[in-house]
Amino acid sequence: MDRVNKPAPEQGIKKKILVTGGAGYIGSHVVKALGERGHDVLVFDNLSTGRRDLVLHGTLVVGDLQDLELLDNTLKKFRPDAVMHFAASISVFESVQDPMKYYRNNTVNTINLIDIVVQNGVQNLVFSSTAAVYGVPAQNRPVDERATLLPINPYGWTKLMAERVLQDLSDASRAFHYVSLRYFNVAGADSGGRIGQRYPVSTHIITRCLKAAKGELAVLPIYGTDYPTSDGTCIRDYIHVDDLADAHIAALDHLLGGGTSEVFNCGYGHGTSVRDVVKAAKKVTGVDFRVTEEGRRPGDPPFLVADPSKLIRALSWKPRYDDLRYIVETAWNWEKSL
Ligand code: UDP
Repeated sequence: MDRVNKPAPEQGIKKKILVTGGAGYIGSHVVKALGERGHDVLVFDNLSTGRRDLVLHGTLVVGDLQDLELLDNTLKKFRPDAVMHFAASISVFESVQDPMKYYRNNTVNTINLIDIVVQNGVQNLVFSSTAAVYGVPAQNRPVDERATLLPINPYGWTKLMAERVLQDLSDASRAFHYVSLRYFNVAGADSGGRIGQRYPVSTHIITRCLKAAKGELAVLPIYGTDYPTSDGTCIRDYIHVDDLADAHIAALDHLLGGGTSEVFNCGYGHGTSVRDVVKAAKKVTGVDFRVTEEGRRPGDPPFLVADPSKLIRALSWKPRYDDLRYIVETAWNWEKSL
C-alpha cells in the first residue's frame, strides 16, 4: 500500500469510499471529485490499464479483483461506507473477440466483489454501467431507463448481467442498495490537464481525431456515411468526464442519505454526428488531418442519445460542461501533454 497524495481538506461529511478501477480514465476523475469533497479514498486497481499517476487522492492498493483474499483484507481494514466499482474491460470490439475475458472481468468479478462487499457489511455500491445495455434503440430518439434492454455485444451483456445481480440482491435484501449509472459517450479531461484518457489503444472517436491531429494516426476513418441520420454518420451523446464524475457524487450522496436502488442514464440528451466531431476536432487543434469514408463498423447503432431527465430530477444533477468544444479542448490539452 502506498500513500499517493495528501488527503484533500475536509468539506462536509467525510466518508470512506473504496474505488475499484480508480486509476483508470473515469475512475480517476471520480477519485479527484471525491478528494475535492474531503472523502477518504482507497483505490483498488490492478494497473492493467490504469496508471498510478492518475490517482490524485487517497491510497492506492495494487490488486486484482480475482485476488479475493486481498480484496477481503482490504475491506476489513478500510471498512468503507460505500464502494464505487469501475474496474472492468471496456472494448466492445475486444469483447466480441474474447468474450470470456469480459464475462470474467466484468460479470464474475462484479459478483465476487458484491459478495465480499455484502459479507463485510457494506450497504452501498455505485456501479459503472453503459448505454450498450440498450443495444440498438428502436427509434432515433433519446432513450430513458425504461427502454428495452437488448445488448448486441458481449460487453453490453456482461454489464447487463451484473446490473441484474445487483437488482436481485437489492430486492432480496433490506440493507443493500446500489446505483447503476449507464454511461453514454464519455470524453474530455480534467480542466487542469492533470488526468485524462490514456488507453494503450483507443477506439474512441474524439481521442482518435486528436491522435490524427498529432500525427500518431495517419488517417481518421469515418465508419459509415449511409446511416439514416442528418449527415449519414452516427449520432452519439458526448458527456464530459467531470460531469459524469458529478453524477457519481450525486449517486453516492443519494445512497449515503438512505436513498433507494436506482438506475440512471448519464448523457446530455442531445447528440452530435461523427462528421461534427471531426469538424470540432479540426477547429480546436487547428490541424486539417486526413479523413476517409469507410464502411460501417459492425455493431454501431445509428443513434444513441440519453434521456437524462431522471438523473436531473431525482439527483438534482446539473451538467456544467455541455459543450463539445470544451470537451474536445480539454481532451486536446491532455493529449498534447502525453
Ligand atoms: N468512429 C469513427 N471512426 C473512428 C472511431 C469511431 O467513425 O475512428 C465512430 C463509430 O463508428 C461511432 C462513433 O464514432 O459511430 C462513436 O464511436 P466510439 O468508439 O467513440 O464510441 P461508441 O459509441 O462505440 O461507444
